[in-house]
Amino acid sequence: MDYDKDLKEMIQKYNDNNEYLGMLDIHVGENVIDETFPQVMNLGKNVLFCTGKSAMKRLGIHKKYLDLFKKNKIKVADYDGITANPTLERIEEGVRIAKKGKVDFIFCLGGGSVIDSGKAVSVGIFGDVWDYIEKKDEIKRSLPLVANSTTSGTGSHITPYAVISNSATCEKKTLRHRLLVPKLSLADIEITKHVPPYVIATTGFDVLCHGIEVYTLKDCDEAAAEFALKAVELIRKHLYNSCINKSIEDKVGMAYADVFAGIALALKKTHVAHAISHPVSARFPEINHGQALAYIIPKTTEMQVSRGDDEVKKRFQKLGATLGIDSDCAKAVRKLIKQLKLDIPVRKMSETDLQTIYGDTIRYRWPSVERSPCPINREDIKKIIYESFKDSQYP
Ligand code: NDP
Ligand code: MN
Repeated sequence: MDYDKDLKEMIQKYNDNNEYLGMLDIHVGENVIDETFPQVMNLGKNVLFCTGKSAMKRLGIHKKYLDLFKKNKIKVADYDGITANPTLERIEEGVRIAKKGKVDFIFCLGGGSVIDSGKAVSVGIFGDVWDYIEKKDEIKRSLPLVANSTTSGTGSHITPYAVISNSATCEKKTLRHRLLVPKLSLADIEITKHVPPYVIATTGFDVLCHGIEVYTLKDCDEAAAEFALKAVELIRKHLYNSCINKSIEDKVGMAYADVFAGIALALKKTHVAHAISHPVSARFPEINHGQALAYIIPKTTEMQVSRGDDEVKKRFQKLGATLGIDSDCAKAVRKLIKQLKLDIPVRKMSETDLQTIYGDTIRYRWPSVERSPCPINREDIKKIIYESFKDSQYP
């Protein structure tokens, strides 16, 4: 099991004509912070330290990092308490803290929500984040950022993206720019080994969806396909095991699954399941991102398999075979959802809630829907949303 070797070889293979791959500096392992801290020190003397609500404090990891900064004479501006589905208001608060602390760089210790917040602040110091998202302004500068991922999901420590919610418009949108690629991408197994089973299952399921959606895109190329498939292969080997035991081997496997899927996601994009999942989280933040995907992707997959041409069918078959549970991809995904115990009830949606999710998907997620490997119209989207969420029971 030398996933690091596989990763380096794959990056090398496609590096020549890809600027993004050349920017990556990825380290996965136990206590990777110790070997990489000299690189962190090169970034400056004042850091914005981004963390989540409580997990890192509870585990004593927050303090360990504060001590490390202190020992190395790096002054910390604390930006903590970052919650799931980060909002513009919270990003503005981060920008204020960063400006007050005159920070030279940003260090994120957390899951996708924390890393995305840090990324948004890294460019928000120089301009308005929502203007960047809406392309009313262009990103020209960013502060250097280190991302230490504490969950094996989202791939945010690898991608040039930050997903941000705007509570005024009830939209969840993606900021994209090569300046958002972290200078250092870390996945510290010493930290990910503490993730509780439900978070492993939901974040891991998100990784799987990144793999499935990128691999079945209409314009998926050889590089993105290879990274996506590698991620799905590692999901098969390590996701369920990682939920039920504490073996380091499975934690490492999931950290690499996240990296491979993150690269696939950065090279290409997602399509229908993620198109719908963003409006769901923007309106109902209590529904976890991976949990929402577990509700949506079986229906989108069934529709795409039944309508897709031979090439599309072949791709889904390949995914089913790689997952190893059933050659029918939708069935394989459903079986995995059951194994991971993601077939649990979520918030009961009223007719108005369903209409709102549908309206939002049409209003601002249509470009993602159009990347579907087979044509999908408004009625189809409505059907997927209604069938996925009409009961509070798993569909
Ligand atoms: P979050 O960052 O939202 O974290 C989920 C929960 O896990 C939190 O309650 C957190 O607790 C807890 N947690 C994190 N690490 C640990 C740990 N090591 N041990 C124990 N508990 C832990 O989850 P995700 O990583 O799934 O991020 C989701 C976000 O990422 C969404 O907003 C999604 O849209 C976005 N995303 C970003 C992408 C990108 O490319 N930028 C791609 C796809 C999704 P606490 O708060 O207490 O720390
Ligand atoms: Mn995702």
